[in-house]
This record gives sequence, C-alpha cells and structure tokens, in this order.
Amino acid sequence: MNDAATLLPEDEARARVLALVPPLATEWVSLDEGLGRTLAEDVMAQRTLPPWDNSAMDGYAVRASDLTGPLPVRLPVLETVYAGATPRHEVRPGTCVRIMTGAPLPEGADAVVMRERARPVPNGGADQVDILEAVEAGQFVRPRGEDAHEGALLLARGTPLGIPELGLLWGQGQLSIPVPRAPRVAILSTGDELCRADEPPKGRIVDTNAPSLALAVRRAGGLPSLLGIAQDTRDSVSEFLSRAHGFDVVLTSAGVSVGERDYVKEVLAALGVEQHLWRVAIKPGKPLVVGKRGSTLFFGLPGNPTSSLVTFELFVRPALRRLLGHSDVAPIRVSGRLDGRLAKSPGLAHFVRVTATWREGSLWARPLSTQTSGALRSAASATHLLHFPREASSLSHGDGVELLPVSWGA
Ligand code: AMP
Ligand code: MG
Repeated sequence: MNDAATLLPEDEARARVLALVPPLATEWVSLDEGLGRTLAEDVMAQRTLPPWDNSAMDGYAVRASDLTGPLPVRLPVLETVYAGATPRHEVRPGTCVRIMTGAPLPEGADAVVMRERARPVPNGGADQVDILEAVEAGQFVRPRGEDAHEGALLLARGTPLGIPELGLLWGQGQLSIPVPRAPRVAILSTGDELCRADEPPKGRIVDTNAPSLALAVRRAGGLPSLLGIAQDTRDSVSEFLSRAHGFDVVLTSAGVSVGERDYVKEVLAALGVEQHLWRVAIKPGKPLVVGKRGSTLFFGLPGNPTSSLVTFELFVRPALRRLLGHSDVAPIRVSGRLDGRLAKSPGLAHFVRVTATWREGSLWARPLSTQTSGALRSAASATHLLHFPREASSLSHGDGVELLPVSWGA
C-alpha cells in the first residue's frame, strides 16, 4: 500500500484514544480487591504509624552522649524490652536496656547499638554489657510517624495501589477504599467463518479472539462480557451491537479492513458512533477503528488473532487503565538489543514479537520465527514487542531497540 503517509502514527492514535476516555464513577471495594486500582479520593491517616519511636535492630537502647569517651563503655542493663511490650524503665545517663526489633524505645534513649557491637559481661552478677562502638543519636531508631501522621494525607487521589500502598491502608485499619469502578467491556466477534469452541466446526474455525480478549480485559482490570459471534452482514453486526447496553467499552474483532463484507465501520456509523480514528501506521494492527457514542468507547479491532492482541496492548489497555484512574498508561518501553536481523520497507512501524532474555548486561530480543499476524503462534511465547520504527528499513544484530513488555504473556 502506498497510503502509509496518511496513516496516524501510533503515539498520536493513542493520544486520540485517551482524549476520549471519560472519568468513571467511584465504587468502594475491599482492600483485597484494590490491587492495580487507583484511589478515587485522598485518604487521610487515622493513626500515627509507627505509634512510637521503635528499634530497627536487636541490640541495646542507649543515650548516644554516653558513648563519646573511650570504648568500650560498660553499662548496666535495666531490662529487656520485647516487641509488643511497654518499657518500664527510663534510660537515665549511664544505663541502657536490651531491646528487640520493633519494640518501643524507652524514655531517655535516643539510639540503638546493634547486638553485634556489644558484649555481655560474663558473671557480672548484675546484668551488664560492654558497648564496643559509638553511635549517632537516632541510629537504628525508626521514628514515630515514619509511615503516617494522624490527620495528614496518607495517599493522594490517583495513587496507583500496589502491595505497599495497600499495606499502608491496612496499617490504618481501613477495610475498604474508594476507586473508579471497573470498566464493563463487551466483546463481539464477527465473521461467517467462526464458531464457538464447543460447537462442531463444520468447516468453520473457532473464535479465539473473544476468549483471548476477555482474558486480556480481565488482566487489565476490566469486566469482560462476551456478546457472541455476528455474521458478516450489516443486520447481524447491527443487531448484536445495538443489544450492547450499559458498557463502558465495546470491542469488536474483524470486519474493519476494506474487504467486501467488512461492515463494522459502516454499522458503527449507522448506530451513531462517532468515528475518531481509522487506520494506524503500524503492523500488525493497521485497520483499527475507534469511535465513541455517549460515554461508550468502541474499538473495532482487526480480526487476525495477533493483530487483535497487539492493538489491545497499544490502545485498549491504555484506555482501560485510564478508565481505572491511572495517569501513566502508555505501554512501558525498555531498552534492549536485537538478537538477529530485521528488514522492512519504510511506512509502518512494526511491532515484532520477540522473546527477550537478559544476557551479558543487556536484554537481548530474539524475533519469533513466525511473524504473520494471522497465526497465534507469532504471539505465543512473546515476552515483548520490539518497536521497529516507521521510517527504518533495517536493524542489525546488536542494534539498540525499544521493547514493550506484553501484558498477555505468561
Ligand atoms: P477480517 O478482519 O474479517 O478480514 O479477518 C482477518 C482474519 O482473522 C481472517 O483470517 C479471520 O478468519 C480471522 N479472524 C477473524 N475473527 C476471528 C476470531 N474471532 N477468532 C479467530 N480468528 C479470527
Ligand atoms: Mg472477516
């Protein structure tokens, strides 16, 4: 094709998609369901954590000013404070207490000497220890409020919730959190040649796009619903699509290129979906179409199984992540080096399926032997997509390349 110049570049296409994404209403979910979501509101701390200065080491709580003279310094040990206990003694000048990690620091102490830097005095009668090393005030003390201060901001609205963030919320005794609700995603396959996996094929092939996309949607944090398989007629595509109510996103696959029975674009237009882009300068995935009606986003993904997965990765997943409140949604890119050679004509950016492994200080990307987008095998075992830039025509062994980790890998 000679029309490459009129096609949208990949990043511009994604920017257009993201500009269409509406904010979603808030729902409250339990913390176990919070992973990968974002906070819909600021969360203030209800508790100061840790509630007291406490020891970061097993050792001796001391006054740093007691250790400024010649070493070792012999100190009486007033008591042992365990995690979960309350100290009974104040550490007055010239004394110390034995303390365990996490135990509250007694009054008067301002530092901890680790156990390995002290030597208990044998047969000393009274409990005594020789401190072998001087310390700075504050050493091995975890200060009160290091994690949270009651009444202060704990986590801001928009914060992505990973395991440590959820841990901070758990530490507050918070049991549920406000998050943008999960996007509901309808998935429609189109094609006369398709059947369900549980049907006798009778000359047809199994619709693999719908279940694959459903898994990709779920992995991205959306709630997939399968609409079924439409025939390659205007009426059938229209009937299925007009039944899709209450969804935030509708994904169709196939029927979006320039074949005689490619009706998806036309039917979307007839149903009042405003088309915002069609055809992107990428391979695989060129015939992508994106539209919007009301607050629902429509993606007409290409039918080739690998093309639908690649376009999902480049455009649908970022949109779902934006719906979920993430601000950083473009696919991650890491630097790697090409293990092999690649050639193409300029015009389209290629997203080459590769298996990347770390060797000798680099992430080496080896293209899979099959790259045809019709074959799922060209996606199986891919760990990354290698970005072969639009205007480039060859890449040599060892060349630096951009790699996008795929979210549909094992
Ligand atoms: P189309 O975009 O309709 O020209 O389809 C492109 C290719 O993808 C054809 O070889 C189709 O048979 C195949 N294909 C389309 N939809 C699916 C699907 N849901 N599952 C598996 N293959 C499909
Ligand atoms: Mg077709």
